[in-house]
Amino acid sequence: MKQAVITAPKSIEIRETAVPEIKPNEVLVKVKACGICTFEQRFYKGVQQAYPFLGGHEICGVIEKVGARVANDVKPGDVVVVASLTRCGECHFCRKGMDHLCINAGEKSEPGDFWGPGGFSEYMVAKGYEVYKVASDLDYALGTVAEPLACVIRSIQKANLKFGDTAVVLGAGIMGLLHVKLAKLQGTRVIVSEPDAARRKKALESGADYVFNPFDEGLEKEVKSLTQGRGAEAVFFTAGGTSAVEQGIRLLAKGGTIVLYGSIHPAAPISINPNDVHYDEIVITGAIKHTKESFREAAALLSQGLVNVKDLISERIPFEKVEYAFERALSPDTYRVVLLF
Ligand SMILES: [Zn+2]
Ligand SMILES: [Zn+2]
Repeated sequence: MKQAVITAPKSIEIRETAVPEIKPNEVLVKVKACGICTFEQRFYKGVQQAYPFLGGHEICGVIEKVGARVANDVKPGDVVVVASLTRCGECHFCRKGMDHLCINAGEKSEPGDFWGPGGFSEYMVAKGYEVYKVASDLDYALGTVAEPLACVIRSIQKANLKFGDTAVVLGAGIMGLLHVKLAKLQGTRVIVSEPDAARRKKALESGADYVFNPFDEGLEKEVKSLTQGRGAEAVFFTAGGTSAVEQGIRLLAKGGTIVLYGSIHPAAPISINPNDVHYDEIVITGAIKHTKESFREAAALLSQGLVNVKDLISERIPFEKVEYAFERALSPDTYRVVLLF
């Protein structure tokens, strides 16, 4: 089978390797589509260097083989999405019901070992619990959105939105737009803050009720005036720097929640007034990765066509052109670039 390997910054090779054997608790997946996420882009750009790296964690494929001890009710031919996040089930956090924060989830690799999620490959091995069956007619490219969608589902749920609430989404990249779509499904009014005009337009097309440029200085005034001076019940930080987070906190209503979904590089402190937390009971929290529950929900949303993610797939590129696909994924005018097999 063919497999893409990032061997150095800006260098990807397609190597020929044997189709892997599965253990009794594993399945073999024939990969049909795989998205290129920022995680893989970091290795391609050389921001993170641990080579040879096998990228690809936003995966949709078809079951090829099922191990004898797999309890998941899947059979060869089933279309699945893959949650390639291993959980040991034994560490303190796994036992506390927070297995997305498992301390043994990261792959341990020795320098020179091939490592990584491995979705940029014609076949891949997954644990039985890592695959979720989806509708047999689901467009494979749309299936790759299950992973980011499962992460955003958790972010949305952390804000405990009520019907009629106002939510502000900071940033309108693919993660911001997924927040817009899910917040709308939850019956809220959505305001997007995004400096780029083309992305603001895309946010409106994705269902945002209002869009603003955070550098126009109107955002805080607008959010206050749209909420009779109260502020927003929820703010989702998906992109931007520390000043965006500080601005997001200022946008909150009493009892509101800001979810730090995005990370900031390089990391830097923010300043908060502790009295805002005390007197206004605002909540500052974060969301990272997906849980088995949120992945199940993402698979169901996509299978039943309850959320439209088609407009987030900017380009579909054959696997053989993986290097070109990475260049397209790095371009600011694309949302998600998906490799097809
Ligand atoms: Zn991803
Ligand atoms: Zn664990």
